[in-house]
Amino acid sequence: MLGKGLLQGLAVTAKNLVGSYHDPARYVTQEYPEVQPKLPEAYRNFPFLVSETADDPMGTLRCVACQICEKECPPQCIYIEKSKDKKPDANGKLQIYPAVFAIDTAVCMSCQICVEVCPFDAIKMDQEFAIAATDRFDGLLLNREQLAKPNAYYHQIHPTEASEVDARLAAERRAAEEKARLAAAAKAAAPKAAAPTAAAAPGVPAASASPGSIPPPGPPPSSS
Ligand code: SF4
Ligand code: SF4
Repeated sequence: MLGKGLLQGLAVTAKNLVGSYHDPARYVTQEYPEVQPKLPEAYRNFPFLVSETADDPMGTLRCVACQICEKECPPQCIYIEKSKDKKPDANGKLQIYPAVFAIDTAVCMSCQICVEVCPFDAIKMDQEFAIAATDRFDGLLLNREQLAKPNAYYHQIHPTEASEVDARLAAERRAAEEKARLAAAAKAAAPKAAAPTAAAAPGVPAASASPGSIPPPGPPPSSS
């Protein structure tokens, strides 16, 4: 029938128009930017640097400026300068930190390779897509302060992934603590193990005190 397709299209439009008054799922448009879209968890665009706390982002960055991501980034849009000194990280361990860390988002192609190669879970993909600037050079070059975001934010945008990372880091931390504890215990026990040998024959060299060895000659007997 002539015009059947047109009538079917109008019927769908009318159904959505009426339905949208009582079912928000039927809204086909959003009033952006007043209404922000709900992005899927897997959505990603540009990287950000993870800090342990929001209070002191520069003091608790996980990044140790190893520069692996800088070397591996295909379009070479990461720039890092290592610090000359060390300062305590979130676990109190002295670490080198990035004195300069910048990403040129005008060049970044959102490949996530920097995230994959980072051995410290220090860089993750953000969901911030509304990055606009009037200056395409300095305006889109994000520095360390702009890139740093707390772990709580990471949990907010990628909850599943962030929980897995936290569990893995906690397990690694526990394993490192246990290893350090065992090493300290072995070190403390070492002098005690050596002590009985020396104490077995005071004034006699330890090597001569072993079973079967010939004792050294004593002082000559007195003539009186
Ligand atoms: S997402 Fe890819 S292109 Fe962007 S900074 Fe990371 S490695 Fe470079
Ligand atoms: S983000 Fe990761 S890979 Fe890049 S410099 Fe920091 S610790 Fe190294």
